[in-house]
Amino acid sequence: MKVLVAVKRVVDFNVKIRVKSDGTGVETGNVKMSMNPFDEIAVEEGVRMREAGTADELIAVSMGPRQCQETIRTALAMGADRGILVETDAELEPLAVAKLLKAITEKESPDLVILGKQAIDDDCNQTGQMLAALLGWGQGTFASGLEFGDAKVTVTREIDGGLETVALTLPAVVTTDLRLNEPRYASLPNIMKAKKKPIDTMTPEDLGVDAQPRLKTLKVEEPQGREVGIRVETVAELVDRLRNEAKVI
Ligand code: AMP
Repeated sequence: MKVLVAVKRVVDFNVKIRVKSDGTGVETGNVKMSMNPFDEIAVEEGVRMREAGTADELIAVSMGPRQCQETIRTALAMGADRGILVETDAELEPLAVAKLLKAITEKESPDLVILGKQAIDDDCNQTGQMLAALLGWGQGTFASGLEFGDAKVTVTREIDGGLETVALTLPAVVTTDLRLNEPRYASLPNIMKAKKKPIDTMTPEDLGVDAQPRLKTLKVEEPQGREVGIRVETVAELVDRLRNEAKVI
């Protein structure tokens, strides 16, 4: 089985996000960037499939500026076999990413595409669903467990009310949730080995996709700071303050 994983380069989850002083977006200059955490889970799942013999090739794909190569190298160091970089400076929206992934899927014919359930920068939670719709493939989103059978995969999904199990005929699209696995750290020897693994570079034009944004960001603002809370001594005082100060009861 051939598996494709999508890995996005995002501001590291430990970094405190700052809005640019001109309000045009989020500051990314001199900021630590990393692989989107849900995509690390996607890579880990692919590597485990590779180790179990369920998959015989794992390809990591990233889209964005040239530096996305580093994100692909991280996936290669974790165990992916090769990478594909779609290089563009355009601000990519989920539909553009889904179209690019569709074009790559048509070239590579994988049996499974694994994405993160959402990117922690835009929090869209759209790309996997859009890709499945564009390809006409089945989708198992928010996966917390995968089991492979004869040309099918059974996906345990995390939903509001608990767990749901769906059976998909391959090829299919899966998006990862937090509990699917715990991603490994790449070892130093594997980081060195990853430097020799191939990365194909192409552009959206090569794939015949118009990746220009359809949305225009008007302004980005910090959320309002929260006021400092107070501690009350008694329930009577709480009720009094809610009634007479906050005027909410
Ligand atoms: P989103 O729909 O933006 O929340 O992203 C969901 C998932 O789509 C991410 O976890 C990635 O697996 C994939 N994805 C989104 N944008 C990109 C990108 N620029 N490059 C590679 N994968 C991406």
